[in-house]
Amino acid sequence: MKTTCVIAGGGPAGAMLGLLLARAGVDVTLLEKHGDFLRDFRGDTIHPSTLQVLDEIGLAEAFHRLPHRKAYTMSMRTDDGEVPIADLRRLPGKYRYIAFVPQWDFLDLLTREARRYPNFHLLMNAKVTGLVRQDGAVRGVRYRDEHGEEHEVRAVLTVAADGRHSDVRRAAGLSPRRFGAPMDVVWFRLPRAEGDPEQPFLRTSAGRLMVAIHRDTYWQLAYVIPKGGFAELEAKGIGELRREVALLLPFFEDRTPELRGFDEVGVLNVEVNRLTRWHLPGLLLIGDAAHAMSPVFGVGINLAVQDAVAAANIVGPALLRGRAPEALLAKVERRRKAPTIVVQTAQRVVQARLIRPALAGPVKPTPDLTRVPVVRSLLPRFIGLGVLPEHVRLPPREKRSQQVDREGAPRDVVQ
Ligand SMILES: Cc1cc2nc3c(=O)[nH]c(=O)nc-3n(C[C@H](O)[C@H](O)[C@H](O)COP(=O)(O)OP(=O)(O)OC[C@H]3O[C@@H](n4cnc5c(N)ncnc54)[C@H](O)[C@@H]3O)c2cc1C
Repeated sequence: MKTTCVIAGGGPAGAMLGLLLARAGVDVTLLEKHGDFLRDFRGDTIHPSTLQVLDEIGLAEAFHRLPHRKAYTMSMRTDDGEVPIADLRRLPGKYRYIAFVPQWDFLDLLTREARRYPNFHLLMNAKVTGLVRQDGAVRGVRYRDEHGEEHEVRAVLTVAADGRHSDVRRAAGLSPRRFGAPMDVVWFRLPRAEGDPEQPFLRTSAGRLMVAIHRDTYWQLAYVIPKGGFAELEAKGIGELRREVALLLPFFEDRTPELRGFDEVGVLNVEVNRLTRWHLPGLLLIGDAAHAMSPVFGVGINLAVQDAVAAANIVGPALLRGRAPEALLAKVERRRKAPTIVVQTAQRVVQARLIRPALAGPVKPTPDLTRVPVVRSLLPRFIGLGVLPEHVRLPPREKRSQQVDREGAPRDVVQ
């Protein structure tokens, strides 16, 4: 099989890149190892930077038709009361909230839209197992289908968007620099009841931290534990987790028996890492495959989407001419590495200054940082829009053909 761009991994990075390239007229093949996008215990937070991207490609309306919740403010429930963190209503632009959407709905939306283009090929149950190399460059991937049969897809450009345990990264011989994290996260759900809070929230108390995400009929709960602490928690039994939840959030007490066992629990081994080199000839790595993010600020999806937009903007025009020079792949890395470093550095500061002490025991009362004017105005921007927000510059095929017709010859479509 031959294609212009083969993408390994149909997460936010791969699905968005696939859509943007297909929309521009590039022949794209997206390989996803699972049979569907139904992956629970994944990020749900779509920030204003991603909403803006959806707006730019005409998908904002369809996105807002998905079941979602809007969070306009972020705050922390401490033993001393509610402490505000950020007020997103202060943001510039149209989208002044974080939309909580189950990740599978978001991925279904992107791939459904991409499927409208005949030059987009989505292969589910297709696990990338290795790289095709020729003349010192990556020239595609090998994958295994649901029947265990091996296939090859040859491509001008191979993109690794296969997440933080990237098989492509390993096959390419690249390994990220690891920065460590003081915590892991235990995920589970409990039913909602009348009178529960409407907004998602963060709850902290001595030695305990929990994030609660409202999903209509149930709460998606993320309980933060010290790094490597899951085995100990499991050894104590499910009753211990129920007790911890009831201590932090007494309104859950009568519902904790609904959490029946550890088979209803997912564990996120929190990692912060980053590749020093995001490309090889014929290969580009983006999203978590290039940089696993801490859950702090809930920005992993958004950074993955921003990488995809930058990659489409920078390499898309060359792909339309059947080329992917490594200089352009290096340009994607240069463009996205700085924002990634800034966000990861901020995450590491929060992990060291707030999360580690909070997990260790009693903490000092949390100051209301929003009283500091510079924090009040910068934090919502940092969380909502990120550093160096990307905008879609690769035009859709219709616009490009008009340009080509008028000019009489194909030309670089990026102004
Ligand atoms: C439990 C949890 C909670 C999180 N919470 C948040 C949050 O609230 N907000 C937020 O913004 N971020 C959150 N994140 C992080 C966020 O999910 C990631 O940063 C983001 O999904 C990265 O996108 P990606 O496309 O780079 O990789 P992924 O989303 O990991 O997607 C990679 C895709 O590649 C596929 N794949 C893997 N290997 C192969 C292979 N060999 N062949 C083919 N396909 C393959 C996978 O099945 C997957 O679909 C959370 C992550 C986890 C694990």
